[in-house]
Amino acid sequence: MSDRPPLRVVGRNAKCPICGKPAEPAHRPFCSKRCGDIDLGRWLKESYRVPTDERPGDSDDDKG
Ligand SMILES: [Zn+2]
Repeated sequence: MSDRPPLRVVGRNAKCPICGKPAEPAHRPFCSKRCGDIDLGRWLKESYRVPTDERPGDSDDDKG
């Protein structure tokens, strides 16, 4: 039993999900900070995607 398959090949073989370049340990899982920022911006956009609930007119608070 010496030919055991590697449990995790992720690491050195990790590739940048943004551009596909080999990921740098300092910027894992990305190849550079730039790609990291790109990814960050992506999900930030998703988070910012709030439904525009704007109503034409006055928005009076009608609480009794
Ligand atoms: Zn990259």
